[in-house]
Amino acid sequence: MSPPQNSLALFRALPKIELHVHLEGAIRPSTVEELAHRFDASFRIADWEWTRPGFRYDDLSDFVATMRRMLNMALNEVDDYARSTHELLHDLADENVRYAEPSVSMNRLARMDLDMGDVLRAIDDARLRAEAERDVRAGIIIAFGREGDLQIAEECVKLFAEWRAHGVVGIDLHGDESAGPAAPYADVYRAARDAGLGLRAHAGEGMGADSVWEVVRSLDVSRIAHGVRAIEDERLVDYLSEHGITLDICPASNVKLRVAPSVAEHPIRALYDRGVPVTVSTDDPLMFMVTMSDEYAALAEHLGFTLEELKGITLNAVDAAFLPDDAKRGLRATVMVGHAVRHTR
Ligand SMILES: [Zn+2]
Repeated sequence: MSPPQNSLALFRALPKIELHVHLEGAIRPSTVEELAHRFDASFRIADWEWTRPGFRYDDLSDFVATMRRMLNMALNEVDDYARSTHELLHDLADENVRYAEPSVSMNRLARMDLDMGDVLRAIDDARLRAEAERDVRAGIIIAFGREGDLQIAEECVKLFAEWRAHGVVGIDLHGDESAGPAAPYADVYRAARDAGLGLRAHAGEGMGADSVWEVVRSLDVSRIAHGVRAIEDERLVDYLSEHGITLDICPASNVKLRVAPSVAEHPIRALYDRGVPVTVSTDDPLMFMVTMSDEYAALAEHLGFTLEELKGITLNAVDAAFLPDDAKRGLRATVMVGHAVRHTR
């Protein structure tokens, strides 16, 4: 059920931070159509089953396959990446998202035979342009896949320091957890840490608490994308809370992929109440047809999150962001002022 328009306007007005958003899953629908028309003049996004209201994917692998089919029509050139980045940051600014960490899949670039350095430089130019035009900042996360492509990650290691100078702030591990273990990436993660990059991995989405334990123990991450199935292990929930390991949670995504039955039954409330630092993001706004304001509104409506608690979640994102301390101080002030202004209205 959609929240009333006036409450959506309220949540849109709050300053927000989005740490878990895939560039490939955040292209504007109109841009997807325009780019796809290069290959198929009859391509219409409305023809895809996932655009129907109430649609849910069978599971994570169904989603990954669907998204890959669509992206093959729309995201093919270096310029496509630049355009998608520029438009995403404008869309985030419209949503009052002040800082974001979009991720880009290195495995996809390798599959498409695109030069990673060219793409990352184009993304960085687009990012700087959008930052100059709007009140939004971004750091890019580069992501590797679990699907047996360790060699791609190993080849990237020597470029980490160079890419860091082009707006890359962290690394991530993507894909269906059942596709392979995280542990073989330990050396890549160590190299990323040495290069000054932040460490995150996807886990606890397609598979249970063991997958979360694995990335905590073998990759030493400070953040986990999703991680919601940590709720299945009391000891793990305590561990995440005690060690301040942040979960970048995407409630709408989890419902659409059947990781959670509904937002009302989503474990984010229990994880938050147990002291686990959680943040809120959209994951793939194109594929789930959701905005940051929708996510905040749903947490308030279905799980009783107060504005004070939503401010706390936003500040968790400040603390967890792959940013230097001085930038975090500025961002924290922005969030505090934005919430205070709203309270005095
Ligand atoms: Zn994700």
